[in-house]
Amino acid sequence: MRLSQYFLPTLKEKPKDVVLKSHEYMLRAGMIRMVSAGFYNYLPLGYRVLKKVQKVVEEEMDKIGAQEALFPSLTVKHFFEVSGRWETYRDGLYRLKDATGVDMALAPTHEELFTDLLASFVSSYKQLPLVLYQISPKFRNEIRAKSGLMRTREFRMKDAYSFHMSKESLDEIYLKMKEAYGAILNRLGLQHLAVSADNGAMGGAGSEEFVVFSEAGDDSIVVCPKGHYGANLEKASSILDENEMKHVKSNLEEVSTPNMKTIKEVSDFLKIDSRLCGKIRIYKSFDLSRRFQKWVFVFLRGDVEINEVKLGNFFSEEIHLVLAESSDVEETLKLPLGSIGPHAFVDEEFDLIVDESIDDENGYYVVGSNKKDYHLKGFNLKRDLKSKYRKVDVRLVKEGDACIVCGEKLAIRKGIEVGHVFKLGKKYSEAFNWSVVDENGLLKHPLMGCYGIGIDRLIAAFIEQHHDEKGIIWGKETTPFDVIILPLSEKDESVVKVGQMLYQQLQRNGYSVLLDDTDHRAGFKFNNAELIGVPLQIIVGSKYLAEEKVEVKMRQNGATEIISLNNIPSFIEKMYQSSF
Ligand code: ATP
Ligand code: MG
Repeated sequence: MRLSQYFLPTLKEKPKDVVLKSHEYMLRAGMIRMVSAGFYNYLPLGYRVLKKVQKVVEEEMDKIGAQEALFPSLTVKHFFEVSGRWETYRDGLYRLKDATGVDMALAPTHEELFTDLLASFVSSYKQLPLVLYQISPKFRNEIRAKSGLMRTREFRMKDAYSFHMSKESLDEIYLKMKEAYGAILNRLGLQHLAVSADNGAMGGAGSEEFVVFSEAGDDSIVVCPKGHYGANLEKASSILDENEMKHVKSNLEEVSTPNMKTIKEVSDFLKIDSRLCGKIRIYKSFDLSRRFQKWVFVFLRGDVEINEVKLGNFFSEEIHLVLAESSDVEETLKLPLGSIGPHAFVDEEFDLIVDESIDDENGYYVVGSNKKDYHLKGFNLKRDLKSKYRKVDVRLVKEGDACIVCGEKLAIRKGIEVGHVFKLGKKYSEAFNWSVVDENGLLKHPLMGCYGIGIDRLIAAFIEQHHDEKGIIWGKETTPFDVIILPLSEKDESVVKVGQMLYQQLQRNGYSVLLDDTDHRAGFKFNNAELIGVPLQIIVGSKYLAEEKVEVKMRQNGATEIISLNNIPSFIEKMYQSSF
């Protein structure tokens, strides 16, 4: 491609309101442009990258025997009603009516349509297992669509679905898929980790996320430094610190705690370990029609924080929890903020969840008394609570907690979730009433797995891991062009000629080449090349040309070599055979 004819509107300055480097550089390198919040154009340069990344994903899917198909994005409500997602997907689903008033939705993923397809053709165990996939646009009404391609409302996902008669078969494909995801990320050059994940709106029996480490990520990942454990903070567990924590069996006693509201204030005032205090968090639960259901009281050890994702997962998909406001607590419940205890209510209108950090048998805690400025000492849940409660792990892991496998101190790192693999089980085959005859002639609902990887997000994640202050640094599997040629003077005829000659020659050898045949100054050409980030730059200047030589610069580390014109094809070949 000749740059003089290429549609590549690069920008010198960083656009306003842009935070992430991937966002900044994709805009500045003329790869993308925002159409409206969460919707982007891919310009020719960006689209070349998209296609290369897609190719890597397709090749790895094909290797494990997954078969590529293509499904429509816009479909009728019916499918989502059958799966229940019309209701449970809430605001994330784009819903619309067609001209005749039929309710439709834009698919956020395609479990429904794939299951429906299989259900209409597959009735015998002999036809399974099967793995199908597609690369297609997905639509999600994301509230936080703000970081360029990292989180958009329309994005391309490779979504694969597998169908099985047995758990063993599902396990086998799940593992193959995980290996394929690892291979994709390695080929692209992304440093990553597969960690256990929250199942989110998908439901199902287990899932893992592929996370690319980066400070730009929205996800927090709990990792064991010895590699024994990795999980998204949303679902992570750890061993609680109970060193030298001594409960003393005692009677219940009311103590005055004037103006003491926080755990720190109360524990400092009473001169006790904050781990011997208990605290209450109050939520309101709503059903799918947003009707108020119950008050949910959560009782936790004083030093720990609540993990709202874990708490939400404990309730069914139909229940939505919202943290109570202080007015709810003080005016509606008439409880004193800062002095609330677990015995506040004992009635059907309330749910009491006790976190596993609480020792309900042998723990004697300082808790709120439900009376302003007073707390209770020696509160034992089994002895002193009349109401029923349910014990659940809803604790947020924190840095330095102990690993559940080896006890080593856990670290928390920022990461970008680029892929997600799920064991769905029978959720969709049951919903679609799809049964298959097994070897014994019995009807069974097939098991399913689903596997997604975000193509656009892979590009954004790649740039987050591979850039410097000048621009993007592409690798060979991601770069839009293999080589960029920079003839430094459009006035020097021999420079122009050699530029053209190399351009033709390298293209004949099968490389994609960008020739900067514009009449910009050398400095401008250099800056542009650095910004665009093509891995190899061939710099053609009068100085070295006098000796029939050109300069080749590696974008990755700035290293240069002076190479004879004759040796350029073999040099480029050698570079592309090595790993960078
Ligand atoms: P997130 O937690 O970031 O919202 P998710 O868990 O909802 O993502 P999945 O449903 O697991 O996402 O989708 C599979 C993959 O699709 C993700 O790992 C990610 O790469 C990509 N993806 C999901 N949502 C978006 C989005 N809004 N923009 C770009 N890519 C996305
Ligand atoms: Mg996910």
